[in-house]
Amino acid sequence: LETQKSIVIVGGMACGPKTAARARRRDPNARITIVEQGETVSEGSCGLPYYVGGQIESENALLIRTPKFFKESSNIDVMGGTRAVSIHRDAHEVEVVTLATGATSTIPYDKLVIATGATAVAPASLQGRGLSGVFTLTKIADANLILSAMSARDARKAVIVGAGLIGMEGAEAFRSRGLDVSVVEALEHVLPSLLDADMSVQVQKELTDKGVHLFLGQRVLRLEGDEKGQVARVVTEKETLEADLVLLALGFRPNAELARDAGLAIGASGGIAVDGSLRTSDPDIYAGGDCVENTHRVTGAKILTPMGSTANKHGRVIGSNITGGRDTFPGVLGTTVVKVFDLGVGRVGLSADEAREAGFEPLVATVDGLDRAGYYPGARKLTVKMVADRTSGKVLGGQILGWGGVDKRTDVLATVITLDGTLDDLADLDLAYSPPFSGAMDVLHDAANVLRGKRERAPEKRS
Ligand SMILES: Cc1cc2nc3c(=O)[nH]c(=O)nc-3n(C[C@H](O)[C@H](O)[C@H](O)COP(=O)(O)OP(=O)(O)OC[C@H]3O[C@@H](n4cnc5c(N)ncnc54)[C@H](O)[C@@H]3O)c2cc1C
Repeated sequence: LETQKSIVIVGGMACGPKTAARARRRDPNARITIVEQGETVSEGSCGLPYYVGGQIESENALLIRTPKFFKESSNIDVMGGTRAVSIHRDAHEVEVVTLATGATSTIPYDKLVIATGATAVAPASLQGRGLSGVFTLTKIADANLILSAMSARDARKAVIVGAGLIGMEGAEAFRSRGLDVSVVEALEHVLPSLLDADMSVQVQKELTDKGVHLFLGQRVLRLEGDEKGQVARVVTEKETLEADLVLLALGFRPNAELARDAGLAIGASGGIAVDGSLRTSDPDIYAGGDCVENTHRVTGAKILTPMGSTANKHGRVIGSNITGGRDTFPGVLGTTVVKVFDLGVGRVGLSADEAREAGFEPLVATVDGLDRAGYYPGARKLTVKMVADRTSGKVLGGQILGWGGVDKRTDVLATVITLDGTLDDLADLDLAYSPPFSGAMDVLHDAANVLRGKRERAPEKRS
C-alpha cells in the first residue's frame, strides 16, 4: 500500500490556499494541512481599501474561502488559530502552538511550504506608535478596527504616513467616508517606488483636486496623544497635523523568521531565498508569496514584490512541484496597476534610472495620447512614459497614467517585455481598435514610434 504523503502549508491567505488547491488537483491522496495563525483564511486583502471606503459593504464579500469549504470541497484541513513556531528539519516536523490554549504539538511533513506573507512596517521606535487610533491595514480585522474607530470617535481627520500603494488607496477610502485626509511622505513625490517625479505630478494633482493635503519631503518624527491615550497629532519635520486616525502605510517586511530560525537561506533583500522551482535551500521545503524574494526578469536582480498576483502564481508552481511536477517561476517585472481616486496608474519593468544602473543605454519618451478616439465622447488624456534600450531596441519599461485603459496598456507592455520584444515589435503589434477603446494608432504605438525615431537619430558607436 502506498503511504500517504503529508503536505504542510504554513500561511492560509493567498499563496498557501492556492498551493493546497493545486496540490490536491494533482494528488488526490495526499494529506494536506494548512496552518494559519488567524481565524480566517483566503481573505481578499486587495479589496480592503474598498471595504474601508464603503464601496464593498460587507466583510463577507472578502472572505473568499472558508475552512469548511476547503474540507468539504477538497479534503484540505485548515488549522486556524494555530501558529507554526519552529521547523525540525531533521525530523521533518513542524512545531505548532494553538493560540487559544497555548498547547504545542508537532505535525510531520514530507513537503513543507512556507507562505507566511509579509508584515506591514510599523517601527516600534516611532514614538506614539502604540496610541489608540494608529493602524496598519493588512487584514479584515484591521479594517474593522479602523471602521469602529471612525464611528466611535466621530473621526474627522485622518493622516496617512506613506504615499505608496496602500497610502493612496487609503486616502481614497478615508475621503469616501468624508474624512479630511493628509498624506505625509518622506520622499519628494507620491508613489515613489512606481513613478518618476515628472509622472507623479499628475497623481499629486488628482489627490489635491480630490481634497487630499500632501506633505511631501518630510519625515514623521512622532505621534502625539491626548490624555486618554488616543492619537491627536502627527508631528513631521515641518508640520504638526491634527489626527483622529493615523494609517501607517510604510511598506511590508517579509515574514522570514520561521525560515531563518530553521537555518534556511535568506536573501540580501530579507526575503526567503528560493530557486526557480520556488524551493528553499532545503529540498523538502518550498516557499512563496510575500515572504520570498523574486528575480527581476530583465535585470536578474533579487527584489521584494509583495503582490497578490505573484503570490497566486507562486502557489500554482509550488502545488505542482510538491506533487512531482517540474514547474518554474520565471520572475517578475514589478507590474502594478492602482487607482488613485479617478486616475489609473500603471507601472511595469524598469525606469530609465534603473535601466542605466542595470547597464542599459536607456532611451525615454513621454507621449500624451487619448484613451479612445478623439471624436468619441468622453475621450481623456492617457500618458505613457516608455523606456527602451538604444542598442538592442528592446522595450524595458513603462509608466502609464490616465482615466481609462491604463490596465490594458500596462499589460500590453508587460507582455512585450516578457517576450523580449523590441520597439519594432511593439509598433507593429496588431492591437484592437474601436473608437470607444482607443485611437486608430494607440498611444503605445505612438510612444514606440517616437523611441524608434530617437534610435535612428542615435550617434553611431565607433570602436
Ligand atoms: C490593503 C492591501 C491592498 C493590496 N492590493 C493589492 C493589489 O491591488 N494587487 C496585488 O497584486 N496585491 C495587492 N496586495 C498585496 C497582496 O494582498 C499580497 O501580496 C498577498 O496577500 C500575499 O499573499 P501571501 O499568501 O504571500 O501572504 P499573506 O496574504 O500575508 O498571508 C500570509 C498568512 O500567513 C499567516 N502566517 C504568518 N506566519 C505564520 C505562522 N508562523 N504560522 C501560521 N500562520 C502564519 C499570516 O497570518 C497570514 O494570514 C494588497 C495588500 C494589502 C494589505
